[in-house]
Amino acid sequence: MNKKSAMTLTNPDRRRFLAASLGALSLAALPAWARPAGSGTKAHIVIAGGGVGGCTVAKYLKLFDPDLWVTVVERNPVYLRPYGSSEVLTGHVDMADLRVSYDLLKERYGIEFVIDAITGFDPTARTLTTAGGQNIGYDRLIVAPGIQLLYDAYEGLSEEIAEQAIPAAWIPGLQTALLAKQLQGMRQGGTFVLVAPPNPYRCPPGPYERAALAVEWLRPRNPRAKVILLDPKDSFVTDETMLLGWNRLYDFNLPPDYRERISPKVEVREYATPGMLSWVRGQDGGRLIAVDAVKGRVETETDTIAADVINVIPPMQAGKLAHLLGLTDGSGWCPVTRRTFASSLQPQVHVIGDACIADAMPKSGFSANTQAKTVARAIVEELAGRPTPVPVWENTCYALAGSDYGLFVADVFRLVDGKIARANAGSRYLPLDASPMQIKLAARYQQTWLRTFTADCFA
Ligand SMILES: Cc1cc2nc3c(=O)[nH]c(=O)nc-3n(C[C@H](O)[C@H](O)[C@H](O)COP(=O)(O)OP(=O)(O)OC[C@H]3O[C@@H](n4cnc5c(N)ncnc54)[C@H](O)[C@@H]3O)c2cc1C
Repeated sequence: MNKKSAMTLTNPDRRRFLAASLGALSLAALPAWARPAGSGTKAHIVIAGGGVGGCTVAKYLKLFDPDLWVTVVERNPVYLRPYGSSEVLTGHVDMADLRVSYDLLKERYGIEFVIDAITGFDPTARTLTTAGGQNIGYDRLIVAPGIQLLYDAYEGLSEEIAEQAIPAAWIPGLQTALLAKQLQGMRQGGTFVLVAPPNPYRCPPGPYERAALAVEWLRPRNPRAKVILLDPKDSFVTDETMLLGWNRLYDFNLPPDYRERISPKVEVREYATPGMLSWVRGQDGGRLIAVDAVKGRVETETDTIAADVINVIPPMQAGKLAHLLGLTDGSGWCPVTRRTFASSLQPQVHVIGDACIADAMPKSGFSANTQAKTVARAIVEELAGRPTPVPVWENTCYALAGSDYGLFVADVFRLVDGKIARANAGSRYLPLDASPMQIKLAARYQQTWLRTFTADCFA
């Protein structure tokens, strides 16, 4: 019986079947899931979702214990990386550059991939079911489905409208290509409206980096254009360093409260004729109410704006798969025991990455990657009957205010009273008084990080 046919049997079924029919064979000759419990079993770990979190946990499980049988179930044959995808909008990279192959994970570590959409599971029998009709048995299941976008949160918006006219481009794909085409083809003097999402959301500095890159690209090509960033929030992580970058690069006037905070530390310029970028915060009426794709209109709490290109990044929740598997609570995200990321709602299931509730850790690729490593370690230790180590996590989010203007937030996290808390008491950001060389270096770090990070997850 090969592994492929075994995929259609549940673990208990398979164990019974093999115990009966292969009784004469030695235990070592049996596949992992067929060996009786407690006989030195090497477990079958199945990972639902082959993104940053899923591929990192698969790789590190095999690094920590090469004998484990590790299978990733992913609906797409190639991963499109979301991180660095705003650069497609400005032509710095194209869609093909976002593609990441699974081949190296298969070749180097013996990780198996099933390319199929997961449609359900049976937590008692411990099997996943797929659209292609497969039943995949597991001893442990790690779910890393990413996010879903709640398009219907705003009047006039739906997934269909996003696909055709008002792209979000927050999960890379056709919407990313559409937004790039719209932005690059915008009429001279046109208005680009970008709507930032409410907390919590994937990649906290991301919308602000996207706005900055759009302005940098438009300034020499479409100098009379306007970029309006609407925001339901009043602040964001990396806000001081990002706003200072906008002030220096794009003649952006800081809101008075930011000016008051930043100007004692570093020179802030005031422009009689401000540049093309404006940021409308929640307290100033920046909350989106409705969009009209036909008329090209955006309605906020205080204003109606005529827009040529509209990019709404809607509110988010855990990916649909997490809801399907019963892993979400009333918040729409997945509660977990923080030490091991074991689901609070389903046994033998862990949830990592953007979908899980991780308190102070942001929903970033870096977080998903570091969670994956601690979960891989915890599972290997648990299977060996040893206590799981107390984890420490880290995150660095790099962001660009311009191609040569980098910034970052860097944190360390520990468990405090069962929750994940930030442990670094000192500074988290590129200092406001960083030299031009340090700022340029931060932009280089971002590019280097992108390459080494992709290799850490997928190679
Ligand atoms: C513009 C932008 C810039 C960003 N920049 C950064 C950055 O600089 N640094 C950083 O750390 N992070 C960044 N991020 C965030 C980062 O990309 C995400 O946090 C990260 O991808 C989350 O990993 P994940 O594994 O949780 O989800 P994902 O990487 O989205 O993976 C989820 C996978 O699950 C699969 N899946 C879902 N449902 C099913 C199903 N039913 N069956 C089978 N497969 C399924 C999907 O196809 C997908 O491959 C950025 C994001 C954006 C949008």
